[in-house]
Amino acid sequence: MLVKCPTCKKLVNWSTDEHYRPFCSKRCRLIDLGQWADESHRIPGEEIAVVDDQHQPDKLM
Ligand SMILES: [Zn+2]
Repeated sequence: MLVKCPTCKKLVNWSTDEHYRPFCSKRCRLIDLGQWADESHRIPGEEIAVVDDQHQPDKLM
């Protein structure tokens, strides 16, 4: 059975071996859940506005 990844629309095989179903990857699942900021990296060129009380943008300078 094939399902579309809600984040990137890529077709993924829905199987019990796929931990991130219906997403194609952990990355897509995190993006969809809005938890992408928890990862230590970002997608270059893709701005994701996240307000973090402990990490104000002006303190990064
Ligand atoms: Zn995906």
